[in-house]
Amino acid sequence: MSNESINWDKLGFDYIKTDKRYLSVWRDGAWDAGTLTEDNVLHISEGSTALHYGQQCFEGLKAYRCQDGSINLFRPDQNAARMARSCARLLMPQVPTDVFIEACKQVVKANERFVPPYGKGALYLRPFVIGVGDNVGVRTAPEFIFSVFAIPVGSYFKGGMTPHNFIISGYDRAAPQGTGAAKVGGNYAASLMPGAEAKKQGFADAIYLDPLTHSKIEEVGSANFFGITADNEFITPKSASVLPGITRLSLMELAASRLGLKVIEGDVLIDEIGKFKEAGACGTAAVITPIGGIQYNGKLHVFHSETEVGPITKKLYAELTGIQSGDVEGPAGWIVKVAL
Ligand SMILES: *Cc1c(COP(=O)(O)O)cnc(C)c1O
Repeated sequence: MSNESINWDKLGFDYIKTDKRYLSVWRDGAWDAGTLTEDNVLHISEGSTALHYGQQCFEGLKAYRCQDGSINLFRPDQNAARMARSCARLLMPQVPTDVFIEACKQVVKANERFVPPYGKGALYLRPFVIGVGDNVGVRTAPEFIFSVFAIPVGSYFKGGMTPHNFIISGYDRAAPQGTGAAKVGGNYAASLMPGAEAKKQGFADAIYLDPLTHSKIEEVGSANFFGITADNEFITPKSASVLPGITRLSLMELAASRLGLKVIEGDVLIDEIGKFKEAGACGTAAVITPIGGIQYNGKLHVFHSETEVGPITKKLYAELTGIQSGDVEGPAGWIVKVAL
């Protein structure tokens, strides 16, 4: 069945009810077999820990249509591993990697008519685990739900990549030994107000400094930071409260192996951002958002340009998006084909 109701050129990042989602319940110490369902409404206890104590985590990954019509999942094993770490941090049962990947494949296949044509975006998958069941005390839930739903999303940049300006926030999104490295809703709840304040001031989003000393860049909104120095070093923050992004990990590998850059995971002192000739934010949604400038202490520091994208950022973007859509051969294991 085709999908004439969708204008692929106008797709944004909005909820659309697709045909099927995967649903599995953990009860009495085990996950059930899991099923695909048409019902997009969850019926859960009012005492669910996910509602009161933020016992939940999520993932985000994309399925891409290739030129030959086949469909690629990009590094789903990495999402499975990260979700397992998030679950462990919040005392939730882990979903085995093979179950996670199989659920993603099933959801893509069942919603194939929503996978955008080659070059028009992707099918965004949203796996999540939530604590459910009757409960009121602060403790881990008696039951859990693992679900994966999918929505078609457009290319983030319709007319090609454009730089955005960001502002350093005075707020923290996570604590030094807190849940910053876990993909959990609580971190996002804490980022809503700083993000809204940044946007009110005309910036794309807030940049968070390290919560202990407020002297080092950690995250750009809900994406990871990287900078390129004049000496062709690719530098990205190392911190226990940074979310280990898969886009970031992939760019680090490509920067070293294909662009010959020196890759460093280390401190990115806000007082030393002058050493970067290019900077960007990276994550599954936009892949790379070039950073035009960063507002700090009342001054806008511009990297390459507020309007033009730097040459290394362009190369990294082309390489990674080429691999995702099947035009460029990726490192072994990065692409998982969905059998149609
Ligand atoms: C999801 C996320 C990222 C990006 O991770 P990807 O795996 O590259 O999508 C970066 N920072 C935060 C806070 C995130 O939640």
